[in-house]
This record gives sequence, structure tokens and C-alpha cells, in this order.
Amino acid sequence: MAHYNCLNCPGYCCSYPIIALTKRDIERLGKHFKLAFATAKKRFTREGHGHKYLMRRKGDKHFGRICQFFDTKERRCTIYKARPAACRDYPGNNCRCGYYDFLMHERRVQDDDTFVAVTNHKD
Ligand code: SF4
Ligand code: SF4
Repeated sequence: MAHYNCLNCPGYCCSYPIIALTKRDIERLGKHFKLAFATAKKRFTREGHGHKYLMRRKGDKHFGRICQFFDTKERRCTIYKARPAACRDYPGNNCRCGYYDFLMHERRVQDDDTFVAVTNHKD
């Protein structure tokens, strides 16, 4: 049983600066948006941190920057079915999510179940 609930989380994992995509991920995104590979690659990825295809990001009130496909009001992924492999795999086989444990801890300490503790991701 998973000890985390993504619906109750502001999306820490989606704010991670290094979300590396594979060719297959870009093909899937291209298919989803009906775009050619080259267009999807240009629109959705950039090179950086030693990766050829890094997820592009946008501004976010909580984390500064977040994945371009994240709905910053609803706090959820807008391309769930077409999301990249890295997103499908996270947080791995483990039934815990470290970010979620951190969030729950901070909410208990603050005695506020809406509190959004922020992390210091560097771009
Ligand atoms: S950080 Fe963890 S709990 Fe939050 S959305 Fe990602 S996987 Fe789900
Ligand atoms: S594609 Fe979806 S699940 Fe993956 S980082 Fe972006 S918003 Fe999060």
C-alpha cells in the first residue's frame, strides 16, 4: 500500500529541475499533441545538466519553477497518460515518497494541513 497521496501534494517531484526525457518520451508527447518529433523536441525540451532532452519548465508560486505540463492551480499533471517514463517510475517501487513524508512532517509541525513547505531546488 502506498504511504503517499499525490492528490494531497503540491507536486514536489514535478518541480525537480532535472527531468530527463528519452526519444520515446518525445515521440509519445508528439503523438499526444499531434506534433512531429522535431517540433515536440523543440517545444517541450532543452539541453542541460548533461542531458540532451530536459523537460522545459515554467514559473510557479510555490517552487519558483515547475514542469511546463503542470497545472499550477489544480496542482496536477495535464498530460498524465502521455507523461514521460521518469514520471511513471517515480517514486520507484518503494511505497513511500520522501517528499510526501517531508510535507506531512512539516504540516504536523505547523499544525496546518494546507501548509506547503518549500525545498531549495537549484536550476
Ligand atoms: S512528490 Fe510524491 S506525493 Fe507528491 S506528487 Fe510526487 S510522487 Fe506524488
Ligand atoms: S509530465 Fe506530468 S508528472 Fe511529469 S513532471 Fe510534468 S507535470 Fe509532473
